[in-house]
Amino acid sequence: MLQMPDQYARHCPGEEKVPISDAICFGRQRANFRKCSNCEFNEERAGPLLGTLAGGAGGQAPSREPPRAGVMEKVFKAYDVRATVPDPLNEDVAWRIGNATAQFLRTALSGFDRSDPKMDSLILGRDMRRSSPALAKALADGVLAVGTNVIDIGLVDTPQVTFATNVLPCCGGVQTTASHNAANYNGFKILGQKGKPIGAETGLQEIQRIAAAISRYEAPVTAKVQRLELAREYREYLLKFLQPLARPLKVVVDASNGMAGRWFPIVFDGTPNLHIIPLNFEHKGEFAHPPNPLVAANLEELRTAVREHGADFGACLDGDADRCIFVDEHAGIVRCDLLTALLAGEYLRQKPGAAIIHDVRCSRIVGEHVSKLGGVARRERVGHVYMKRALADHKGVFGGEVSGHFYFQDFFNADSGLMAFIAVLNVLSRSGESLAGLIKPLDVYASSGERNFENEDQEGTIRRLADTYAKGTIDYLDGITVQYPEWWFNVRPSNTEPLLRLNMEAVNQRLLEAKLAELTPLLGEPVEQ
Ligand SMILES: [Zn+2]
Repeated sequence: MLQMPDQYARHCPGEEKVPISDAICFGRQRANFRKCSNCEFNEERAGPLLGTLAGGAGGQAPSREPPRAGVMEKVFKAYDVRATVPDPLNEDVAWRIGNATAQFLRTALSGFDRSDPKMDSLILGRDMRRSSPALAKALADGVLAVGTNVIDIGLVDTPQVTFATNVLPCCGGVQTTASHNAANYNGFKILGQKGKPIGAETGLQEIQRIAAAISRYEAPVTAKVQRLELAREYREYLLKFLQPLARPLKVVVDASNGMAGRWFPIVFDGTPNLHIIPLNFEHKGEFAHPPNPLVAANLEELRTAVREHGADFGACLDGDADRCIFVDEHAGIVRCDLLTALLAGEYLRQKPGAAIIHDVRCSRIVGEHVSKLGGVARRERVGHVYMKRALADHKGVFGGEVSGHFYFQDFFNADSGLMAFIAVLNVLSRSGESLAGLIKPLDVYASSGERNFENEDQEGTIRRLADTYAKGTIDYLDGITVQYPEWWFNVRPSNTEPLLRLNMEAVNQRLLEAKLAELTPLLGEPVEQ
């Protein structure tokens, strides 16, 4: 029979200072840790109880379906956890993900004594969604049950979790957020030590596997929750990068009823020469428009306000404020790849010759402009995990994606909407020019924007494209990219749906349209945007 925890204490290998309960021990054995050679609990002795829980790494586990495995498949995506609430994402699922994340992150700790309670701490933040407090609480309980401490930094933008994991001793962090999704969604973005992104290939699958194999259990909690407000430190850190504004700038900021609504006033109030006109700063649990600035319709309110107020520019952030899209003084939407080229120039002034990272969808002008300024432009796969890693690997100073994610060496190689806002203020202040005026010389190629096509045979289609366009320069960095002197295209499969995504660019509109007419019939049924 099983012994009660109070009659029995044992320690896991490498964690001699930490006595653990039976329940936690089960969690480790079946899900993550190799079984101790002298483990007093084994499947035979534990009998039917462990049989219902097992599904893990020991190799001797009975081959039963892990409990509700299908739920985890529904909520885990390529880069994070994201789903509708409460079905399939509810507090039970959150608890299991918290528990699995803590198990994974504390094992992944390197260079530290894992029993050091300082390092065995997880940073937790959350956004303003109605379901966030309950999900974050359940997640925290799951973390505490492993024996890992929780540092609760409260209502924050996602980049602040990156900040916290870099300035506080911890094994990682989790933000409860569904980013730009509708109000009935929520999810978790998971970071390792020093804000290292945890995606499918870098641990998320492992966390999913652990979460699918465990059930919620009651355990005596010895770990602690510490509440920490980082407002002063965060503000000071960000404002280090804002140069004094040489002229007054009037800016409309649309927070999309998201986290920017809390953090723009905290960070920017009192900045000389900066006049911010707030739009949708309130947190009501609902959104005046969907919190996704990549959809042009969601920028309408901002564009109207920029015109009405005669603002120098407008900025719209997504729900968790890691993304920012800009409109110029004429209320024209600024393409993020062109802005990447513009801001690259600013960062190359500070660090001549440095690398600039851009995703495979960006205009050719980014590479050309960066080379002209003496920098090294590097193309990278779409997605924050790849962008952040590339920035770190190449010691890149700045990076941008067409989706409005901008990445900064100054911000731990991560993306931040507030840092992007600061970068635009700096370039306008220093140059004395308008945003439209600065972007115009970079807008030289005709671009298709991203177009989606329904396609069940993604690999076969990509192979056929390679045959059809064999005379071009082909690479497979992300899907397929084929380059010719006067035009190029990239076609890549969606991670989650039977879709192919096309981006094409040409030296003029006529050539672009001719090539689109030639290529799009090969891709499948176009999906209405
Ligand atoms: Zn986001």
